[in-house]
Amino acid sequence: MAVEIPRLPHTLPLPLKDDVLLELVDKTKDWALMHGAAMRSKANFSKDSLNFAPFVLVPSAFPRKEFYKAVQLQQILNELMHRVAHNREFLTKSLKETIQVDEFTGNLFKIYETVQDEGVSQRVSLGLLRSDYMVHTGSKGKIKQVEINTIASSFGGIGQAIVHFNRFVLQELNHHEMLVNLPDNNALEGLCSGMLEAWKIYGDSKAAILFIIEDVTYNICDQRFHEFELRRLNPYVKVIRRTLTDMAQRAKLGPDNELLIDGYAVSVVYFRAGYEPGHYHSQKEWDARLLIERSQAIKSPSIHYHLAGTKKVQQALARPGAIEMFLGEASKIEAVKEIFTGLYSLDFDEFGDQAIQMALDAPERFVLKPQREGGGNNIYGKEIRDAILKMKDSRERTAWILMERINPPLSTGYIVRPGGPDIPELVDLVSELGIFGVIIGDSTKIYSNRQVGHMLRTKVSTANEGGVAAGLGALDSPYLI
Ligand code: ADP
Ligand code: MG
Ligand code: MG
Repeated sequence: MAVEIPRLPHTLPLPLKDDVLLELVDKTKDWALMHGAAMRSKANFSKDSLNFAPFVLVPSAFPRKEFYKAVQLQQILNELMHRVAHNREFLTKSLKETIQVDEFTGNLFKIYETVQDEGVSQRVSLGLLRSDYMVHTGSKGKIKQVEINTIASSFGGIGQAIVHFNRFVLQELNHHEMLVNLPDNNALEGLCSGMLEAWKIYGDSKAAILFIIEDVTYNICDQRFHEFELRRLNPYVKVIRRTLTDMAQRAKLGPDNELLIDGYAVSVVYFRAGYEPGHYHSQKEWDARLLIERSQAIKSPSIHYHLAGTKKVQQALARPGAIEMFLGEASKIEAVKEIFTGLYSLDFDEFGDQAIQMALDAPERFVLKPQREGGGNNIYGKEIRDAILKMKDSRERTAWILMERINPPLSTGYIVRPGGPDIPELVDLVSELGIFGVIIGDSTKIYSNRQVGHMLRTKVSTANEGGVAAGLGALDSPYLI
C-alpha cells in the first residue's frame, strides 16, 4: 500500500486561472532577466546573452519555526566547522582511509599536509559557508541537514534577487498582505562584507580580490552579483577572475609569499572552482592550488576548510562523542545533534559491514554519497544495491558514505524554465533550504561569526537531486507558515 506523503499547505489558492498564469509567466520571465535572476545557457552558450534561471512562480511554504531554528544554528555551525578545520588529528583520522582510494580528496590532503608541515604563511581563514536542510516528515517535520558547503557556496547573489521576485509576484496577484511572510535576505551583502573584512585584515589597500573560476561559467550572474556588490561596498577594491590554468601559467609568489598574478597582488582568494576533479586538467592546476595555499593571501576556503566540508568529515562528526570534542556547551551540542540524520561509514570494520547490510536490506531508506560537490554524484534507490554489491569487497567503498534519506513534505506549485510551456503545469514539489554563514579566524581566535542570509531551491518531488546550476532545481523563496 502506498504511504501518503504529508503536504504543506498552499501559500495561496491554486491552480491559478490560465489567463492569469499566461500573463504572469510572461511578465515574470522578463522581471527575472532584468534583475539578474539568470544564467548562461548550456545548450546555446554565448557570453553575449543570458537565460532567466528556472524559478518557482509562487513561493513555497516552509515551516517558520524550522526556518528560524536553521538561522539561529548557523553561528554554532560556523564555529564547529572552524574548529574542525583546525584540528589536524581529527581531519587526518576521518579521512585516512578515504584518501587512499579517492584520488581527488587524496590530492587535497597532500596539499594540506605540505602546508601544515612547512608552516602556514596565512593563519587567517575566511569561511563562506552554506548549510543545507530539508524538512523530514520522518522526524515530525523537523529540519535535517543535507550537508554543509565550505567551498563555492553559491546562490547568495541570485537568491537575494529571488526574494524581491517573489514579493513582486505576490503583489501582482494582489496578495500584499502575504509579503510579511517572506523573510528579508541580505546574503549577498553579508558574504561580500566577509570578503572585505578579510581584505582589510590582509592589510594592503592596493591588493585585489581574486575569484578562481571554471573555464566556462554558467552561473555568471551569481558570481557577478558578488563582484559588483564588492565594488558597491568599497569602490576601491578590484576583483579579478582567473582559472586554475591561468594561475598555473602566470601566478607566482613574491618575497614574502605574496600571491602575484598579471601585475596584481592578491589579498583574498574566493574559490568558485576547484571543488571537483574536472577543474584540474593536469598536475599544473594542482600545483597552482598548492601555490595559492602556500601564499599569504586569505583563502575562502583554505585547504583545511575545504577538507572540513567533505562528506566523510560530515559522517565522522555524526559519530557518538565527536561534536563534544569541538563544542563545549551542552545546549549547542544538542542543537547540532538534532539536525543530524543517520550517517554511516563504509569502512572495513564492523560498523561499515553493518551499514552495508542495512543498505542492501532497504536501499530506498538511504542515499549513497561519494566525496564530491556540485550535485549529480549521489546514488539512490535500487542503484544503491548494485553499487554496493560491486564495491563491497574492494577498498573503493571507504570513499563513500551512506546517509539516511530525508523525506520532505510535498508542496504544490509551478516551475518556470527557459524553453518551457507558456502555461506551466501544477506539480508536486520539494524544497531544500540553505543558510549562509561567514566566519573569519585563525587557530586561536575567531574574529567574526555571523549568519548572513538564506536561499531556497525547489525541485519536482520525483527528482532525486535539485541543483539549479545542474539543471533540475528552481530558485524559490521560503514563504513562512
Ligand atoms: P552536493 O555537494 O553534490 O550538493 P549533496 O549532499 O547536497 O551533495 O547532495 C545533492 C542533492 O542530493 C541534495 O541537494 C539533495 O537534493 C539530495 N540529497 C542529498 N542527501 C540527501 C538525503 N539524505 N536525503 C534526500 N535527498 C538527499
Ligand atoms: Mg555540496
Ligand atoms: Mg548540496
